[in-house]
Amino acid sequence: MPKKKVLRLILGDQLNEAHAWFKTPDRQVTYVMMEVRQETDYVAHHIQKVAAFFAAMRAFANRLVELGHEVIYIKLDDPENRQTIEGNIAKLLRRKKFSCFEYLLPDEHRLDLQLREMAEALPVPVEAADTQHFLTERQELAEFFAGKKRYLMESFYRWMRKRYDILMDNGKPIGDKWNFDQKNRQAYDGRVPIPKPLFFTNDVSDIVKMIRQQKVATIGEIQPAKLIWPTTRDQSLALVKSFVKDFLPAFGTYQDAMTDTNWYLFHSRLSFALNSKQLHPLEVIQPAVKAWQKKNSKIEIQQIEGYVRQVLGWREYMRGIYWRLMPEFAEMNYFNHVAALPEFYWTGQTRLHCLRAAIGQSLQHAYAHHIQRLMVTGNFALLAGVHPDYVEEWYLGIYIDAIQWVEMPNTRAMSQFADGGVVATKPYISSAKYIHSMSDYCDTCAYDWKKRHGKMACPFNSMYWHFFERHRSLLKNNPRVGMMYRTWDRMADKEKKQILKQADTYLKNVDKL
Ligand SMILES: Cc1cc2nc3c(=O)[nH]c(=O)nc-3n(C[C@H](O)[C@H](O)[C@H](O)COP(=O)(O)OP(=O)(O)OC[C@H]3O[C@@H](n4cnc5c(N)ncnc54)[C@H](O)[C@@H]3O)c2cc1C
Ligand code: SF4
Repeated sequence: MPKKKVLRLILGDQLNEAHAWFKTPDRQVTYVMMEVRQETDYVAHHIQKVAAFFAAMRAFANRLVELGHEVIYIKLDDPENRQTIEGNIAKLLRRKKFSCFEYLLPDEHRLDLQLREMAEALPVPVEAADTQHFLTERQELAEFFAGKKRYLMESFYRWMRKRYDILMDNGKPIGDKWNFDQKNRQAYDGRVPIPKPLFFTNDVSDIVKMIRQQKVATIGEIQPAKLIWPTTRDQSLALVKSFVKDFLPAFGTYQDAMTDTNWYLFHSRLSFALNSKQLHPLEVIQPAVKAWQKKNSKIEIQQIEGYVRQVLGWREYMRGIYWRLMPEFAEMNYFNHVAALPEFYWTGQTRLHCLRAAIGQSLQHAYAHHIQRLMVTGNFALLAGVHPDYVEEWYLGIYIDAIQWVEMPNTRAMSQFADGGVVATKPYISSAKYIHSMSDYCDTCAYDWKKRHGKMACPFNSMYWHFFERHRSLLKNNPRVGMMYRTWDRMADKEKKQILKQADTYLKNVDKL
C-alpha cells in the first residue's frame, strides 16, 4: 500500500521546534505555513507585531528546511495566496493530491472553530495534534475548579508548583511561604541601575515594505532595519539568558514600578518568544530557578518566586480561564459599559501624563508592562465606562504579545471586570494615589494628583468615586470593596457632589483630557 501523503498546517504562533512532528524528516509529509489577510485584518495590529510574526514564521520555515523537512511557505503578496486558511488548504489538497490533512490545535477559539468546520468539509481524513507547549491541558483548569464560583489563581498556582516540583522542598514551598509579594513591588528609585537590554537588530525592511504595499492597516511605529524582538529560537534563548543574568535579580522588587525614564525596567520582554512558542515555558522557568540555586547567587527568593508565579501561575491560569469561559466570555460586560474608547488611545495625545507615557511607549515599542496595562490604560478605560469590546480591540492590536487566549482574560476579566468577578475578586481601579506611589508620572503631569475636584484635578480621582457610586448596586455586596463605600458614605455631601460633578464633566469630555 502506498504511504499516505500528508499536508500539515503550522500557524504563526506555533513555532515550536521541539514538537514531535519535527523529530524526523519524512518525504511524504509537507508542512505549510501562510501569511494571510484573515490574520492581519481581524483587528488593526501594531506594525511591529505583524512584522515580528512574519519574520519569525519565515525563520522557522527556513529552519525546518535546514532540518530536511518539506515546506511550502505562502507569503502575503503571493499572487496564488487565497488569503484565508481554508482557501489555501483546499487549493493545496487539490493541486498536490495530499491524502490526509493534519493541524496543531489552535489556542484561539476563533481559529479552533474555523479549523474544525474546515476539517468537516475537507475531502480527506483530518487529524489534530496538541502543540506540546503548555504545562496544562485546555480543560484542566475547569476541572480543577469544578463546582467553584471563583477561580482563585493562588490555589491553581500552588497546585502547579507541587505538580511540577518547582521551588518546592519535600512537598513544602521553599522559604516556607508561597508568596513574597510584601518584599516586592517597590517604586523605582534609581538605586539599582537598569541593565543594558538585549535588543536585536533584525532587518525586516522587506516585510514592512510588503505589508505597506499590500495596504494592511496597522498602528504604531517601527524601525524596519532594527526590529528588537526575538524572531528565532537562538535569539529567544539569548534573551532568556540576558534576563536571568541581568534583570532577574531585581525583577520582583520593581515589578509594579513605572517610570518615565525607562519603558521595560526589569521585565523580561519574553512574552513574544513565549506566545509564538519559540520558547517552551519551562525553558524560561528552569534557567531562572537554576541561577537562583547557584551558590552565592544574587537572586533572592522573592525575585525568583515572583517570576515563577507569572509564567507557571498567571500564564497557564489565564489560558485555562479562556477555555473555561469561551465562547460566552467574548460577550461579557458586567457593568453594561457602552462608551467609546477615547481617541487618544490611538495617538497618545492627552494631557494625562500617565496615559500619554503608557500609550506613547506602546505605540513606539508595541510593549507596556503589566502594571501599565492594568493600572493605567485598563484602569482609565474601566473608570471611563468603555465597552469591553473596544478595550479589547485596542489591547489585541497594540501589543507584540497579544493573542486572544491571553489578551482576553487579562483585558476583559482582570482589567475590565466584565466577567463579574470570576478572575478578580474586585475591580482593578485606583485613584491617582496609586499611580503617584508607583511612578514618577504625576511629578510632571498637567493635572494635580492630590486634587479630587477643582481646576486641573486629576481625573482618576473623581472618576474613581463616580465609578463606585454609579455601580453601587453591582458592587455593594462585594466584601473587598465594602471599605470604599464606607469611606465614600462618610464624606460630606458637598464634597461628594463636587466630586461627582467633576467626574461628570470629565466623562462628557474624555477626548479633551
Ligand atoms: C489589560 C492587559 C492585557 C494583557 N494582554 C496580554 C497579552 O495580550 N499577551 C500576553 O502575553 N500578556 C498580556 N498581559 C499580561 C502581561 O502584561 C504581559 O504578559 C507582560 O507585560 C509581558 O511582558 P514581559 O514578557 O516583559 O513580562 P514579565 O513581566 O517579564 O513576566 C514574565 C512572563 O510572565 C507571563 N505573564 C506575566 N503576567 C501575566 C499575565 N497576567 N497573564 C499571562 N501571562 C503573564 C508572560 O508570559 C511574561 O512574558 C496583559 C495584561 C493586562 C493587564
Ligand atoms: S496626575 Fe493623574 S493623570 Fe497625571 S500622571 Fe498622575 S494619575 Fe496620571
